[in-house]
Amino acid sequence: MSHGFISAAYIVAALLFIASLAGLSKQETAKQGNWFGIVGMAIALVTTIIDPRVSNVFVIIVAMVIGSGIGLRLADKVEMTEMPELVAILHSFVGLAAVLVGFNSYFDAEHGLALTAVQQTAMNIHLTEIFLGIFIGAVTFTGSIVAFGKLRGIINSSALMLPHRHKMNLAAVVISLLLMIYFVQHSGDDSALFLMTVIALVFGWHLVASIGGADMPVVVSMLNSYSGWAAAAAGFMLSNDLLIITGALVGSSGAILSYIMCKAMNRSFISVIAGGFGTDVIVDTDVDYGEHREVQAETVADLLRTAKSVVIAPGYGMAVAQAQYPVYEMTQQLINKGIDVRFAIHPVAGRLPGHMNVLLAEAKVPYDIVLGMDEINEDFPETDVVLVIGANDTVNPAASEDPNSPIAGMPVLEVWNAKEVVVFKRSMNTGYAGVQNPLFFKDNTQMLFGDAKETTEQIFRAL
Ligand code: NDP
Repeated sequence: MSHGFISAAYIVAALLFIASLAGLSKQETAKQGNWFGIVGMAIALVTTIIDPRVSNVFVIIVAMVIGSGIGLRLADKVEMTEMPELVAILHSFVGLAAVLVGFNSYFDAEHGLALTAVQQTAMNIHLTEIFLGIFIGAVTFTGSIVAFGKLRGIINSSALMLPHRHKMNLAAVVISLLLMIYFVQHSGDDSALFLMTVIALVFGWHLVASIGGADMPVVVSMLNSYSGWAAAAAGFMLSNDLLIITGALVGSSGAILSYIMCKAMNRSFISVIAGGFGTDVIVDTDVDYGEHREVQAETVADLLRTAKSVVIAPGYGMAVAQAQYPVYEMTQQLINKGIDVRFAIHPVAGRLPGHMNVLLAEAKVPYDIVLGMDEINEDFPETDVVLVIGANDTVNPAASEDPNSPIAGMPVLEVWNAKEVVVFKRSMNTGYAGVQNPLFFKDNTQMLFGDAKETTEQIFRAL
């Protein structure tokens, strides 16, 4: 297999990855984008394995069969609501792989020998790659494990508030930087490398542990970005151009996604990294919000029958209840009656970016009636009925009305401006951020208690 052929195959794979990202940016082309990614990855894997520099192909294939078996089984079993956990644990594998590749390259490099000036420069660059690769990999590894634990509920989702936590994080970065200089100047001193690895592992763990649950979406996409940079660093160590390109694509797209999410939550990226939602705010639990009104499914059906325009704001509860199918059937019924029905999607509704869009697409809801928050927020005053199906934080007026609220400043769907609001949920419990929602107590809001799938089916039958 010639070097030219391998380079050409890598370029084709890289172009397919770029086409994949472009496809994934729109709902209509997302499936096609996925296929580009799958084909690109298949080309990348086959080309890497048949590269004449690669030995022990049998061992690689056995490892791939075992890995794919576990991967297929897990991906098949995973619920849509558990997807962020899966993504987080997968990032931890990328981080661990970067650490292992780093140590392998370190033990493989012939440091400590007498070198010419040019060889010394090349060695210094290689040692820097190793050091950075292990640092980013170790931070990604433990950070992703903590993110997985928090999303899974194994680790407390509230922010760990150790005294001087920012100073500790800063110290970890500065000491690691000094160790890197020492490591390179002393031709790969192993104690500096091991010490940095321990610091980076603790730093990654502490960095994510001190971020609160409500910021986890940003953390997962931030770790996505880190895992990309860790892969790119591994690409430099292994002199594999495709791994460098792929890592850079993942690293930058993860960073862009983190930025978009921060914007959607009106938070700066630094403030997310520096600590969780609500950590500096004292929540007043004694506030009297007044009484809420309860409604039955038949009454909601009557309300809908007389409406001209209806907006459905879905959230995490719709995913839990798997209510997207009856929601779609009810939507069809209303559209057939000549009622204008649209969906309002908050950028961080559910538990992963695009969660609601995926569920609605699964139930075959047409894309043109699914609108983003910015596209629909101005239309609520002209809306007759809003159905809030399992959403809570993303429709919380406290975000814009109460400066002391832990979610103050987060842009939300302003559903309370509609004439009537019906909230589908099982109880008066809070949402993900653990904050009470004054929407439930507003004069134009009624609560429809029960599992969202069952209550939607009841409305469907009553209609
Ligand atoms: P929330 O998590 O705020 O609220 C969901 C609501 O659904 C709960 O109040 C719950 O109330 C209700 N619910 C749960 N199960 C059912 C059911 N079977 N039937 C009916 N209702 C149900 O949801 P949102 O989507 O509004 O907000 C998302 C939150 O998650 C935000 O805080 C966001 O920051 C965070 N987050 C977002 C991620 C993302 O990328 N999108 C990732 C991780 C976190 P009850 O128990 O009373 O039924």
